Amino acid sequence: MDYKELADYIFPDIKDISYYEALYPKRNLPEGAAVTRFAPSPTGFLHIGGLFSALIDEKLAKQTNGVFILRIEDTDKKREVENGVQGILDSLKAFDIVPDEGVTGEDTEKGDYGPYTQSKRGEIYKAYVKHLLVQGKAYPCFCTQEELDEIRKNQELAKDRPGYYGKWAKCRRMPLDMAKERIEKGEKFIIRLKSKGTPDGKIKHHDVIKGKVEFPENDQDIVILKSDGLPTYHFAHAVDDHLMGTTHVIRGDEWLSSVPVHIELFQALEQRLPKYAHIPTLLKEENGGKRKISKRKDPEAAVSYYHEQGIPAQAVKEYLLNIANSNFEGWRRANPDKSMDEFEFHLNKMGVSGALFDLVKLLDVSKNIIARYTAEQIYDYVLEWAKRYNPNLQARLEQDKPYALRVLGI
Ligand code: GLU
Repeated sequence: MDYKELADYIFPDIKDISYYEALYPKRNLPEGAAVTRFAPSPTGFLHIGGLFSALIDEKLAKQTNGVFILRIEDTDKKREVENGVQGILDSLKAFDIVPDEGVTGEDTEKGDYGPYTQSKRGEIYKAYVKHLLVQGKAYPCFCTQEELDEIRKNQELAKDRPGYYGKWAKCRRMPLDMAKERIEKGEKFIIRLKSKGTPDGKIKHHDVIKGKVEFPENDQDIVILKSDGLPTYHFAHAVDDHLMGTTHVIRGDEWLSSVPVHIELFQALEQRLPKYAHIPTLLKEENGGKRKISKRKDPEAAVSYYHEQGIPAQAVKEYLLNIANSNFEGWRRANPDKSMDEFEFHLNKMGVSGALFDLVKLLDVSKNIIARYTAEQIYDYVLEWAKRYNPNLQARLEQDKPYALRVLGI
């Protein structure tokens, strides 16, 4: 038995990757065009940090005549919430962030590189898993939770690093006949990457925002396909961003430490590595210190908060752009009437560490924006807001519009 036979046995009806490579050809875009994607998981409300990254994705793609994709990453079925996708779509719409390609509704999408929902891409991932398996770059693993716990215990005793790697990766050395027999018997399994990394290896990498970074090489045999047949985040990222032609992976800096795994996956798949840009976490000031804006503790974490408070979406976007590129503020002062689309944004001008998100500053930006609206515009916005949040105010605005206009026009 060789790897090819085992691969055909595990994935009998799966297409060769050449099929997908032809189905999703290289994009025909002008030199320098950026293909970006916002890739949220439908696990709750859209966080202000998510909006920050979507805004940057859209800005970069627009400014370079590229493509901005919305991809839904729903491979972790346990964490998914009801109406999660709709919530993301509604929030982006409220901030007038419009993807060029990707998911547009619960069951609709636009673009030639779909499906844009990961749970609908199962066959594609399997084709790439099979491709690695055929080459002996991946293998099935049957370790149960008890066995993994046992490995961990022995690693502690031996004062070795935790994880599934090197000598501890016992299924890596399993004879292929035995693997086939165990699958025939109906045993549960996952597929792991056979890492080529070494414990002392180092990799140097250039992040568009963070600059030069150095990491230990990945030597963990990471899981690429779970027992439910869905890929892990790492593997789906490599396959999707390759096939969708992503040029810039812009994502939260909690993913920075995964770069060695991603580099190894792109190498194993023999695909070109996209550029990575890890954006700083938004922080708030508290008791003289700074901390992450928390999904659980801070109402301002949810983008709906800004609507409820009557802060114009435009103000939130402008303030976020100001956090992204601090020269935006000066540009805005010099160009009060221009659309923010005309501001030239640079990824590499973003700060490398946590960025302070200051509500007082946001209100200041908001005040400047509102001050430039005509009385009619303010009336329309306030009325729209009042319809949802303050029926009394709505009644008064509608009762005597000329009076309301005079008040709002001061
Ligand atoms: N689904 C991941 C998340 O929500 C996306 C990370 C990425 O952009 O690659 O954190």
